[in-house]
Amino acid sequence: MKKKRATRKEIYTLADLQTLREVDPPIRLGVLGDPVEHSLSPQMQNAALKHCKIDRQYARFHILPNQLGEAVGLIRKREFVGVNLTIPHKIGALEFVDSLDENVKRIGAANVIKIEGGKARGFNTDGRGFSRAIREEFSVDLRDLRMLVLGAGGAARAIALQCAKENCERLVIANRTFDRAEQLADELRDFFTGPKVLGPVPRLQAIRWEEAAFRFQIANADLIVNATPVGLNRGDLSPIPSRLLAPHVMVYDTIYSAKRTPLVAAALEAGARAANGLSMLLHQGALAFEIWFQREPPIEVMRKTLA
Ligand code: NDP
Repeated sequence: MKKKRATRKEIYTLADLQTLREVDPPIRLGVLGDPVEHSLSPQMQNAALKHCKIDRQYARFHILPNQLGEAVGLIRKREFVGVNLTIPHKIGALEFVDSLDENVKRIGAANVIKIEGGKARGFNTDGRGFSRAIREEFSVDLRDLRMLVLGAGGAARAIALQCAKENCERLVIANRTFDRAEQLADELRDFFTGPKVLGPVPRLQAIRWEEAAFRFQIANADLIVNATPVGLNRGDLSPIPSRLLAPHVMVYDTIYSAKRTPLVAAALEAGARAANGLSMLLHQGALAFEIWFQREPPIEVMRKTLA
């Protein structure tokens, strides 16, 4: 007699992973997070799987921090293709994987795990996803830009490293906890020893989270990136007020919960060009697909699901 298949759930838990009952198509990919219900990755990745006729399904897993080790063990045992990691697991996962991509070692955070031959390998596609998003949104390469990055957490570290690798003109890191901005700048110092200096301002700098510092730096910046969660919650103000922004800057907010985040709204009010983080989400996801399946992702199909 044919075995009865379970019905599909919106959110799975560790208990589901322990007793995984097959659904059709079988779940062999997913996103691990806490919370995870906001994640748009399932719709994007499932559309890609369907388009490529890959008989696998991508699911949401609500995994608490103290469950992460067991969850990674189970996805290994159940021969998953891989998973994405979202808050708060990007750093915690490093201790549970068998090997780390070079990027992950430098950033200290992974957003992708691939299972191969029973081993879990950590990758980080946020930086390259960001770079592709900037090219797509503003038709410019990081190489040409004077950057002001807000934040020094996981996303900011991936973005700052990518800017450094692509030899951006200038990189300024602003963070609420100044020490973390300084530490990140120190780690990237080797990338900025070249002679590409524009005027009296240093090529690499950490600054305090203060209006006067923002005002000065914005006059010497082409692209401002928000890599903090400021703007995510209802009632949040823009991390940089409109009066400090100017038409010459491009503004990218990694937040994608709204089309017009507070920062995007402030930028548009100042006459600047601005975009939210949906394009970064798309490209980091497309790069993850490429890592898992070693084939080109159907980017337009994925984009459509996010529109
Ligand atoms: P982390 O927790 O690692 O880092 C958060 C950063 O934001 C820290 O630098 C922290 O500063 C700063 N911060 C937090 N609250 C405030 C505040 N109230 N005022 C000023 N600074 C603050 O988070 P991640 O780096 O993983 O994620 C940051 C954001 O990036 C997320 O909210 C998400 O929206 C976005 N993101 C988007 C992606 C995309 O694909 N579009 C991918 C990944 C992330 P401090 O050091 O002082 O604590």
